[in-house]
Amino acid sequence: LRRLDAEAVRRDFPIFAARSEDGRPLTFLDTGASAQKPKVVIDREADVYSRSYANAYRGVYQLGAEVDDAIEKTRESVRSLLNAGSADEILFTAGTTASINLVAQGWGRKFLRPGDEILLSVLEHHANIVPWQMAAQATGASIKWIPLTPDGRLDLSNLDQLLTTRTKIVAVTGMSNVLGTIPPVAELAHAAHAVGALILVDGAQSVPHAAVDVRVDGIDFLVFSGHKLYGPTGVGVLYAKAELLDAMDPVFGGGHMIATVGTTGSTWAKAPAKFEAGTLPIAQIIALDPAIQYVKELGWDAIHQHERELLTATHDRLAAIDGLKILGPAPEHKGAIVSFVMDGISAQDIAVLLDLRGICVRHGHHCTMPLHDWLQVPASVRASFGVYNTLGDVERLCKGLDAVRKRLSRSRGVV
Ligand code: PMP
Repeated sequence: LRRLDAEAVRRDFPIFAARSEDGRPLTFLDTGASAQKPKVVIDREADVYSRSYANAYRGVYQLGAEVDDAIEKTRESVRSLLNAGSADEILFTAGTTASINLVAQGWGRKFLRPGDEILLSVLEHHANIVPWQMAAQATGASIKWIPLTPDGRLDLSNLDQLLTTRTKIVAVTGMSNVLGTIPPVAELAHAAHAVGALILVDGAQSVPHAAVDVRVDGIDFLVFSGHKLYGPTGVGVLYAKAELLDAMDPVFGGGHMIATVGTTGSTWAKAPAKFEAGTLPIAQIIALDPAIQYVKELGWDAIHQHERELLTATHDRLAAIDGLKILGPAPEHKGAIVSFVMDGISAQDIAVLLDLRGICVRHGHHCTMPLHDWLQVPASVRASFGVYNTLGDVERLCKGLDAVRKRLSRSRGVV
């Protein structure tokens, strides 16, 4: 197996050199919020504006055709990344949030009825909760929740009571942005289809860490954000099966999404245009392609092995820190995200003290208030890993936490 050379990877990401000028390495452990960008992505985006820019799908002139081709190239790369059947099943959106809202409105408002049920899990990010609450409110459907096991995995022991012929859609994360839990998506897809329901997978966290195959897994809707996959901000993806895109209503009306417009009404273009009204984030879509190629060249197996090494090292080291509790399951059930709390020390204090050592972690509820209610903590600290993280980063985090514990437990008399 080819190994990932994290030091070489770091050299591909200009920010690490740029932010290490004082000799202290940037310890970036917030990739779950947004990933850093390799030079190939930054250069490609700049190159679009410098050498090959015009609006997309508008001009017949050469420059416009180049832009159209580049966008279609990314569409094909995304198709291949997800193993979708057709590039027409790949829509560009503003991000995961926009993609889920598009499904909740374009599909949900059209097909949900009073008495219908939407099945979510307690792990979900607000982006995979609130749009469904809005759709439920608009249609009279209701929401049911898949509970968690004590260690933060999905508790599927009563799935046949939760998932019934009333269920119209199951919407679950591919990987929790807090606990790192990886739900059994293929199993859920199978169970959903058995009762005639659809499944949406929120791939914001899972897509950057592992290969997905929407056809093998039987996924109806899959969404993710470019910026968490080492690509630009402002661009996301919605994969949906062709027949669902045909059945769905567009959500945004405007240019490019129509077949005809008359004074008495309009008709829609076919997908993907039907859902891509207005000017797209052109340079961002084009620069998503080198991000996809970058992770593919590193290789999913190498990425997986590298991130597992970081994950198990972090679990091992953190377990030895007095008063620190890792939230969620053991490493074998999760991806490269570690959230934790420390006795008597607030998540914010931890994050601020780590920042003084050049360590970037996130604290708070991470847009998962129902999960934090279940955890019975108001906030947690999260370290999330990417391809450029090293065992040195893990070591600096753990040393930093040792120091935080010593300093704050002494001042509060809780040693
Ligand atoms: N779902 C999950 C699981 C996430 O981690 C995030 C980002 N934190 C989102 C949805 C929302 O993604 P975006 O802000 O890119 O729309």
